Amino acid sequence: MTTMTPTASAAWTQLQAALARHRPACEADPRFILDDLDETTREALARICDHCPILDACHTYAPYAAAGYWAGRQRSPERKKR
Ligand code: SF4
Repeated sequence: MTTMTPTASAAWTQLQAALARHRPACEADPRFILDDLDETTREALARICDHCPILDACHTYAPYAAAGYWAGRQRSPERKKR
């Protein structure tokens, strides 16, 4: 089991508060959790994120995400921050 740093935990709390106010388009789009996205799909997801009402909160938490597509970028385990 991993534990989050205080900074990551604060970012997660902020994201959860934003999610309580808005339902982002990625919620019902399984492409956001795929590991292997082609360029066309990445560009399509980036356009969705560009218009997301919780982009700022998602962007703040995104560096701590283990994988998936967050705030306009593909995240990979190698780039994960703690
Ligand atoms: S910015 Fe974050 S919450 Fe919004 S659609 Fe993109 S991945 Fe989802």
